[in-house]
Amino acid sequence: MKILVINAGSSSLKYQLIDMENETLLAKGLCERIGLDGKFTYKPLVEGKSKIDAVDVAMPTHAEAIQAVLNALIDPANGVVASMDEIDAVGHRVLHGGKAFTKSCLVDDACIAAIKKCIPLGPLHNPANLMGIDACTKCMPGKPQVAVFDTAFHMTMPPKAYTYAIPYEYYENDDVRRYGFHGTSHRYVSARCVELLGNPEHSKVICCHLGNGSSLSACVDGQCVDTTMGLGPLAGVPMGTRCGDIDGTIIEYLMGKHGYDIKEMMNILNKKSGVLGISGVSSDFRDLEAAASQGNERAQLALDKFNYEVRKDIGAYAAAMGGCDAIVFTAGVGENGADTRAHICEGLEYMGVKLDPAKNAQRADEHIISTDDSKVKVFVIATNEELMIARDTKAIAEAL
Ligand code: AMP
Repeated sequence: MKILVINAGSSSLKYQLIDMENETLLAKGLCERIGLDGKFTYKPLVEGKSKIDAVDVAMPTHAEAIQAVLNALIDPANGVVASMDEIDAVGHRVLHGGKAFTKSCLVDDACIAAIKKCIPLGPLHNPANLMGIDACTKCMPGKPQVAVFDTAFHMTMPPKAYTYAIPYEYYENDDVRRYGFHGTSHRYVSARCVELLGNPEHSKVICCHLGNGSSLSACVDGQCVDTTMGLGPLAGVPMGTRCGDIDGTIIEYLMGKHGYDIKEMMNILNKKSGVLGISGVSSDFRDLEAAASQGNERAQLALDKFNYEVRKDIGAYAAAMGGCDAIVFTAGVGENGADTRAHICEGLEYMGVKLDPAKNAQRADEHIISTDDSKVKVFVIATNEELMIARDTKAIAEAL
């Protein structure tokens, strides 16, 4: 069975074709500048096939983008399948499933209506995700499609974790609660971690998804019991450009002082804050590390703030779970930032975390970076959200 995985944004669309026989990636790529001057990238992972690198392809809408993907996949010279019939189903990443979705679901009229209902909760992403679904329906009529939600994994959180301390009617009437994001990544790495721990009957795992966007989750026996992002992806630890947790008073104060409207204020918190905001240098951790090593104090402060907040949340989740068996680092910074991992774990010796500096400096998709006698095992596990989406899609498509 071959599954096409789609991650549609408002003007871009990432795709992967995965052969589920042995879970191998056949091709991947990206459509960028949809609705503008369309750029198409295609990378086949099959011997002897040539890639296409950011070439001009007219993509006025997502439908032309999907068509360009299909054309490349079935191209006689450089395609990886003979015809569209070989693509059995499509899995879509969907940001917000609200309270309605605790797991992935087949895309049908009811599912589309429910995703639409969640647009107020995910105003930037859900409409784009729907455009991806709609484009596939047009280009591949009748092909089973599955929606995999970023929020679904976190729906096992207990009320004390997801309830905000604001009047309860906002939860009852307006669905205001913690939802959490990066759920597919947290699900993948937490499950892999439990496997690497030897599938114990009971496990307490803290997952640190640290990338451009960052979030932590606390997972007991494979189920999420808390996570740092909230109603939207602005909450939690500081991120590349997002502020993470701040005092709501700041919003009122700055809007009053500078005369910002709410749109300007939210733009500052989403796009101009985080480590970019503190450093004034970059949202990219490699740039920050380079600047800090040259003596840039604000770049150093941005890194210190990030590491401090992640460390604090690890401590909080160990307290929330009554212990911790393992910590997992994943995503761009988590997988590659050895210094960041070392600084985050500094001072966690009291709870049984002992990093092995040599192991931490090594690179691998999956490896343990704690010492043999560390009570808490620390892993780096490369996330694979696309594979998780493909697995869910396969399971749902096979059951049809
Ligand atoms: P993601 O959003 O998961 O793609 O992660 C992007 C982030 O990973 C960027 O801030 C990058 O700077 C960071 N990153 C990638 N490679 C490295 C590296 N070798 N060291 C530190 N950070 C890295």
